[in-house]
Amino acid sequence: MGLPPVTTHQLYINGEFVAPQSSATIDVIDPSTTEVIGRVPDAGAADVDRAVKAARAAFDAGPWKDATAQDRGRVLFEIARIIRERAGELAELETHNTGKPIVEAEFDIGDAATCFEYYGGLATKIHGDVIPVPDNAMSLALREPIGVAGQIIPWNYPMLMAAWKLAPAICAGCTTVLKPAEQTPLSVLALASSFEEAGLPPGVVNIVTGEGATGAAIVEHADVDKIAFTGSSEVGKTIMRAAAATLKKVSLELGGKSPNIFFADADFDIAVEGALFGVFFNQGEVCSAGSRILVQRPIYKKFVEAMVEKAKAILVGPPMDRETKMGALISREQFDRVRMYQELGKQEAKVASGGGRATGGALDKGYFVQPTIFYDVDNSTRIAREEIFGPVACVIPFDTEEDALRIANDTYYGLAAAVWTRDIFRAMRVVKNLRAGIVWVNHMQPTYVEAPWGGYKQSGIGRELGKWGVEEYLNVKQVYINLSEQPIGWY
Ligand code: NAP
Ligand code: MG
Repeated sequence: MGLPPVTTHQLYINGEFVAPQSSATIDVIDPSTTEVIGRVPDAGAADVDRAVKAARAAFDAGPWKDATAQDRGRVLFEIARIIRERAGELAELETHNTGKPIVEAEFDIGDAATCFEYYGGLATKIHGDVIPVPDNAMSLALREPIGVAGQIIPWNYPMLMAAWKLAPAICAGCTTVLKPAEQTPLSVLALASSFEEAGLPPGVVNIVTGEGATGAAIVEHADVDKIAFTGSSEVGKTIMRAAAATLKKVSLELGGKSPNIFFADADFDIAVEGALFGVFFNQGEVCSAGSRILVQRPIYKKFVEAMVEKAKAILVGPPMDRETKMGALISREQFDRVRMYQELGKQEAKVASGGGRATGGALDKGYFVQPTIFYDVDNSTRIAREEIFGPVACVIPFDTEEDALRIANDTYYGLAAAVWTRDIFRAMRVVKNLRAGIVWVNHMQPTYVEAPWGGYKQSGIGRELGKWGVEEYLNVKQVYINLSEQPIGWY
């Protein structure tokens, strides 16, 4: 399949593609060529209101209210099946829209299907509790869907982030209004065209495209019960403030500046590859990127040299090329941002490799940068403190385990961390003392839909995935049932 023709897409509301009220549109580009590959509506508040009304009606009165857990599970399995059936097409679309290597996009699409399957299975396992109470009564805790969820996602994993949001919401019995990132709306719109085939009733999932203002309209809408957001910490704070006006439940998956810690006893070659993989996967546009690489002094110099040697082999190339290991950054804005940090790093630390734009042949047209390694980085510098969200690694030396922990935890973020050592005692001590929501030992980045995902500190609130993810979409109703037919006897 080649590129789809440049179409102007519509909003997906109440089970059909509809023309927006707003006439403004957004050009969607392929960041590896900067060519326009589609246009989507920049939905306004009236469009958001229409989507919320559809979601509200489906939840309060419509088909979703009466759907059983078995029905919801079947729909989720059907969506997964269709994603697998359309995997080739969806992966190509994802690569054209994000600039990520096709091999990585194929993983993403497979992971998205797995996420729908997991929550398809979980749908029939959600149930409440019976609580022993001292009187002749029965106490129940029912778990009910929270209602209409507003879901706002970023551009780094468009399809996968949509799956992480939609699957648990559908599983719980919620209805949703989802806004993809302005840069990457195409894959989820493509998926929406299969929702009817999957048996998803109209109004259960609504997709509105647009910019930040569209997201804000969702957050402010009084008929939305809950907001699930993934994106930057800055926007997360704005959303939490805005949600306060209507006291919505919020879950936030935000940024990070995650430490990847290497002790001298780690298996050297595996560790070096782990350092590169941790920070350069998906062009470094990963919220859990191991962007601070802490290396113990005895191996420090050799480690930096080995990283440089191995980094040379990272093939930056056209994303559709199966050999490519690093594709294009998402946008001009992100390209400029990463270039700014590359230049800043040259003042704040020493360059081990990279540090500029990646050029030559097909690369000249797109937003490609070199994988960049800075060393002798001080943890107080901007490159070590601010999330760059690109392929920029900061290597920081340390002496003792205590030093490593102090540096690792010296950040406002707390999304992820990793530790590499053969010493089980040390590994577990470090795991215990790291303030992060996800900690890997002797690896970095594997993520499973079965296991919880989310941040400590300013990296977020709440958890996604696994049984934890569905909790965010549930309310608890306490029920008291009197079993005694005696008078209350108070008056
Ligand atoms: P972003 O600028 O925070 O945007 C995220 C989403 O929020 C986009 O859909 C955006 O719309 C929307 N938005 C912007 N302003 C808004 C407002 N005032 N109210 C409601 N919605 C608003 O983040 P990004 O640049 O797309 O993505 C990169 C960031 O996401 C990084 O910081 C990264 O760490 C984080 N991230 C975290 C995770 C995680 O799991 N913790 C995963 C992936 C990414 P527009 O697209 O129109 O701007
Ligand atoms: Mg943005």
